[in-house]
Amino acid sequence: MPGQANGFDTQTEYRKLPAVDALLQDSAVAVLIDRYGPGAATAAIRTVLNAARQLIAAGNPAPQPDEWPARLAAWLEQAHRPTLRPVLNATGVIIHTNLGRAPLSQAAFDAMLSVAQGYSNLEYDLEQGARGSRYDHARSLLGQLTGAEDALVVNNNAAAIFLALSALCQGRQVLISRGQLVEIGGGFRIPDVLRQSGAQLVEVGTTNRTHLRDFAEAITPQTAAIMRVHSSNFRQIGFVTLPELNELAQLVQRHNQQQPEHPLMLIDDLGSGTLLDTAPYGLAPEPTVPGSLTAGADLVTFSGDKLLGGPQAGLLLGRNELISRARRHPLARALRVDKLTLAALDATLRSYQRGRATEEIPVWRMISVAVDELGARVLGWQNALRAHGVEGHIMPGESAIGGGSLPGETLPTVLLTIAHPQPDQAAAALRHGHPPAVCRIQHDHLCFDPRTILPEQDETLLAAIIAAFNN
Ligand SMILES: *Cc1c(COP(=O)(O)O)cnc(C)c1O
Repeated sequence: MPGQANGFDTQTEYRKLPAVDALLQDSAVAVLIDRYGPGAATAAIRTVLNAARQLIAAGNPAPQPDEWPARLAAWLEQAHRPTLRPVLNATGVIIHTNLGRAPLSQAAFDAMLSVAQGYSNLEYDLEQGARGSRYDHARSLLGQLTGAEDALVVNNNAAAIFLALSALCQGRQVLISRGQLVEIGGGFRIPDVLRQSGAQLVEVGTTNRTHLRDFAEAITPQTAAIMRVHSSNFRQIGFVTLPELNELAQLVQRHNQQQPEHPLMLIDDLGSGTLLDTAPYGLAPEPTVPGSLTAGADLVTFSGDKLLGGPQAGLLLGRNELISRARRHPLARALRVDKLTLAALDATLRSYQRGRATEEIPVWRMISVAVDELGARVLGWQNALRAHGVEGHIMPGESAIGGGSLPGETLPTVLLTIAHPQPDQAAAALRHGHPPAVCRIQHDHLCFDPRTILPEQDETLLAAIIAAFNN
């Protein structure tokens, strides 16, 4: 008989649905109106009522009268959740490009907070009581830490490269080895950036071998620069040759002595641009910023949120005359950073200045943590989970640096692995948690690497795992 399914009379069920106005008068709903506003609450009521109508049409009973506030609260909570949210990174990839790259230090966070809520001397000279420059803030600290004459901070490393080429090489030639015409990620290709900047790319050498003489022979009166791009996200092995940076610097120097009317510069895109030596941690030596400047680069560019461990930023360091020209270029204004970035960058650099980077900067805490310590934490995880009926196993594994830093290089770690008949579903449940957690899947096991979970996040991760596995 129409209108009846599963023993329910759908018309009767429809009549049980409350009116919008009635719900708006409900005292429990008043709390929601207070929190989310009357417009959002009314929209939620309409949506939730519509969903109930559809369920009734499909043969289900109407919700109980006392269920409405909870249904509305759940809908509003979901709809008003920020799209950008914190995530637990249990992948073991330290500089995870998809998960926001470098987590900030407590000092960086405090510094951002202190300038965020009020006014600041962003562009104000407190000595003179007159206009100052935002570019002065990180300048001297970067000079002290790297030996650079001058420094400019822009939005990211891509912006730093684009600005350097636009301000200093427009309409002229830039020599790059064919082995370094790379794509960095997200479609950012060095040849495209060069073209956009108005500089003319001159390819030198071959994919696997470029000699110093290839550069020497390519120099013309139109050449503005030789550029080196660090192979930060791939590695060439086998029959490979590239001139060292100091050899390129000597070539540039000799040229500039012989033809001072056509001076050349050497630009080094370091990518990660570390201030600390990576070798003591069992990693391949990543070129350092001071090392590049000492070797003779005139301009060095690198990211703020890779191995530096600070906020997203592009750092342009080098000779004062070149940096000044970049600073005066109209693009500098378009690519400039805000006060929060400058505050976080300053605080991050001060950890290096105090010699406390490996204790204070999360990326370096994660790189330098002892395997024994990771093992002890994972053992604690295993016990805590067992008490909630989740059985994990402990096994050795490898963490990665990630973020286009030190490709192929790994650090030994200790993993907690949990077997699951449907590991993809379990991983999805973890991603839907509050907060979401992201892990790796290997051989039907979910793998959790403690290296990228800060010790202060242990409890939160365990709660997330328990919630996901006990549902
Ligand atoms: C990561 C990287 C870039 C881009 O840096 P962003 O800060 O992401 O803009 C450019 N060059 C190299 C070599 C890189 O590794």
